[in-house]
Amino acid sequence: MNLVDRFGRPLRSLRISVTDRCNLRCQYCMPEPEYVWLPREDVLSFEEISTLSDAFIAEGVDRIRITGGEPLLRRQLPVLIESLAAKPIADIALTTNGLLLKANAGRLRRAGLHRVTVSLDTLQRDRFRALTGSSDHDAVLAGIDAAATAGFAPLKLDTVVIRGVNDDELVALIEFGRRVNAEVRFIEYMDVGGATRWSPASVVPRAEMLETLTRHFGAVIPIGEQGSAPAERFLLPDGTTFGIIASTTQPFCNECDRARLTADGVWLLCLYATAGTDLRRPLRAGATPEEVRHLIRTVWSLRADRGAEERLGLDRQTTLIPLRALKKDAHLEMHTRGG
Ligand code: SAM
Ligand code: SF4
Ligand code: SF4
Repeated sequence: MNLVDRFGRPLRSLRISVTDRCNLRCQYCMPEPEYVWLPREDVLSFEEISTLSDAFIAEGVDRIRITGGEPLLRRQLPVLIESLAAKPIADIALTTNGLLLKANAGRLRRAGLHRVTVSLDTLQRDRFRALTGSSDHDAVLAGIDAAATAGFAPLKLDTVVIRGVNDDELVALIEFGRRVNAEVRFIEYMDVGGATRWSPASVVPRAEMLETLTRHFGAVIPIGEQGSAPAERFLLPDGTTFGIIASTTQPFCNECDRARLTADGVWLLCLYATAGTDLRRPLRAGATPEEVRHLIRTVWSLRADRGAEERLGLDRQTTLIPLRALKKDAHLEMHTRGG
């Protein structure tokens, strides 16, 4: 029988964070001057990730996304991709900030990676520096080019839209995407752990984004695909497509088939979950594959998470997790849970 949670949602997609380290400091994700890192000895080896992936795949997962922190900081990542690509899954993708993509795109493609998503919040160098703390905007653009050349087409570009920061670049980003054969997806700013500068006023709702784009391009037509969550896709009059992920104003928890594994093997049932199931300990204590699968079945069948919908019902004036709690438990951070 197919494994489903308490709301009948299957377990189909797994995001694996391979490191909690990052070479950027995006204001919406890692704005603080200092962080507590996962102990290195706790970080799963590629063999351990592969073993846990087998258990998840046996329980229904058929899509894996590699994330972080910045996943390309993990040494020899293509070796992991190669082992995952050999498994019976429909899709294996990577989310990256693009800084190290130029040097890695070809190897990742040859290792069997299917798709790449690059996070790109601005086309302006100065703004990039203010937003990420890095002056290497050119490296991200070169990474996007290299990924397209390596055969990752169409690419996806993810943009977190923040009022007063980059909400004047929606049109320019779509035009850039068109030039580089990439589909842009605008993400509503979320009040996840780590987003300590979030405020309700800084969110640009989906409706407002659509209004801006309609004003510029003309009628925007919803594509209305089944099962395309979390992104809702749209068509512009010239045939260009783009997506909006309205995680804050129109959450899609009722369709959420997604699990997350942190770099140290904690399995989270929701982006907003405050605790997870430690899979590293049983694995390192010698649990058999059947025992790990049993644990996965038990935990998923009890899942009732719908974090974003619950947040929507609250009068949110404060950030999700107070800074002092984040400093005590790295697992609460967005950069640890992989976005
Ligand atoms: N470092 C990689 C990157 O930035 O693509 C992968 C990890 S990052 C945590 C994954 C995604 O989470 C990125 O697309 C990022 O923009 C998104 N993200 C991080 N904080 C966010 C927030 N507060 N609201 C919405 N999206 C966020
Ligand atoms: Fe930015 Fe991704 Fe790093 Fe977070 S993990 S700071 S979103 S690059
Ligand atoms: Fe899934 Fe949680 Fe996000 Fe809702 S908030 S879509 S349940 S991860």
